[in-house]
Amino acid sequence: MAKVRITETILRDAHQSLLATRMRTRDMIPIAEEMDKVGFFSVEAWGGATFDTCIRYLNEDPWERLRNLKSEFNNTPIQMLLRGQNLVGYKHYPDDVVTKFVEKSYENGVDIFRIFDALNDIRNMEKSIKVAKAQGAHVQGTISYTISPVHTLDDFVNLAKELEALECDSVAIKDMAGLITPTAAYNLVSALKEETDLLVDLHCHCTSGMTPISYYAACQAGVDILDTAISPLAWGTSQPPTESIVAALQGTDFDTELDLKLLTVIKKYFEDIKDKYSGILDPISESVDTDVLLYQIPGGMLSNLISQLKEQNALDRYDDVLEEMPRVRKDMGYPPLVTPTSQIVGIQSVMNVLGGERYKTVSNEVKEYMKGMYGKSPAPVDPEISKRIIGDEEVITCRPADLLEPEFDKFKSEGVEKGFVKSDEDALTYALYPPIAPKFLKGEAEEEELKPAHTISDDEGIGIPTQYNVEVDGDVYEVKIMPTGFMEIEETDSGNFKPVEGGVTSPMQGMVIKLNVNVGDKVAQGSTIAVIEAMKMENDIQSEVDGTVEEIFVEPGDAVSVGDTLMVIK
Ligand code: MN
Repeated sequence: MAKVRITETILRDAHQSLLATRMRTRDMIPIAEEMDKVGFFSVEAWGGATFDTCIRYLNEDPWERLRNLKSEFNNTPIQMLLRGQNLVGYKHYPDDVVTKFVEKSYENGVDIFRIFDALNDIRNMEKSIKVAKAQGAHVQGTISYTISPVHTLDDFVNLAKELEALECDSVAIKDMAGLITPTAAYNLVSALKEETDLLVDLHCHCTSGMTPISYYAACQAGVDILDTAISPLAWGTSQPPTESIVAALQGTDFDTELDLKLLTVIKKYFEDIKDKYSGILDPISESVDTDVLLYQIPGGMLSNLISQLKEQNALDRYDDVLEEMPRVRKDMGYPPLVTPTSQIVGIQSVMNVLGGERYKTVSNEVKEYMKGMYGKSPAPVDPEISKRIIGDEEVITCRPADLLEPEFDKFKSEGVEKGFVKSDEDALTYALYPPIAPKFLKGEAEEEELKPAHTISDDEGIGIPTQYNVEVDGDVYEVKIMPTGFMEIEETDSGNFKPVEGGVTSPMQGMVIKLNVNVGDKVAQGSTIAVIEAMKMENDIQSEVDGTVEEIFVEPGDAVSVGDTLMVIK
């Protein structure tokens, strides 16, 4: 029996990190039989951003992908990444949706559930853990690893003990930005092995460049499982290469006993796949980014930040934003930076710098965070900042999902009535993504075309709009962004955005998810009239004037481009 086992991530995290989660099921199936022969501890193949991407961009049913993979992997457990109460979305879902989702995931083929919470708040993990255990699944509780003045080794060990008390079978150290040093890895793995009976899995990205050394240190401390990716989709913001780790440990006490020749067959297959998707591959995400060591910011966030600032002709503020991020993180009580907190902190930092005044404009997510709706922050949030953002609004201390009403049956009956929900799986897809699921479920979605390589030109002085690909946490979004809320539209030199008389135009490419007004409503300047989702974030659209809504041209679910007129207010 091998001393160290391998979780292969190429079917989930590796392509999420390097190919914007775009790998199609038809590119996975032909190699599955070979992969199944290797003897991996598991193949991570579902969850994370794959669910969202399937219905949003690939016109693929994620449930069908899972069943297809399950029929190929007869010997290897299929693993998924589950964001605790957030499931595979970006907000908390009520317990009935969580229960149904975990049950159906197990039924359709998930054997191992890796369950995490961005704040390491166990209350956000316990429901899904209990349901997965009740199904008979292997449950891997997770420590979202980060570095801060308030995160100690003892905290992480205590979390692992709580996960063990919930009957988890193993614990994963989830190191999203490759921040763990060899010494820290050695100490943490040693402590977890000493203080718990859990199998210990180390999951790191290579962003900082330290990861292979940390993996070896973890081996010396008795790690049971390492996460790696077949080499064409390894390194950078992905995992270390499977073949290299296997070779490095051969003949040692940590021998994985995997067959390098067989791995090489699989590697050859994925070399072709990498070529096929090269248009999406951002060279930045493949390289080491040592900025992460200074700012503790995951690589994906940095490239996203650069794109955002370029679009706003504000690249000269890059250093300011970099310095602002740790401050925002401190104000928020040092959340680990992982979905969704990475996006929340990143976007708020940009707003703070470009707005000229900190927290002048605040995203809905930050407001909710300050109210405790994401769970307990690792350290208390800054009370003054909190007051500025939410005033005297009550901060909850209960488990956030306790405040949510059941909604599975509501979504199911509504979807069945409208004719596009035909199964519990469909109902879950709808409950998870109400704005985008109907189009997919009705069969009206189209698979996006694979794009040729896209370069971001240095267009300083040309002005906006220009279309960019923006990467958020491994997902590439095509966005055309006009700054709003934190920059005066008049300051831009583009003529394309002159609004029609009284017209309120969309400042971004995204989807209308909510309209707060009806025709005839009186609105005050600054009040929120609509919410547009872009880059996984909900953005309030505010009225710039006092007036009356005369006409509305969009409805929830509509995709909008920059400059599209949403409504007329006079
Ligand atoms: Mn990962």
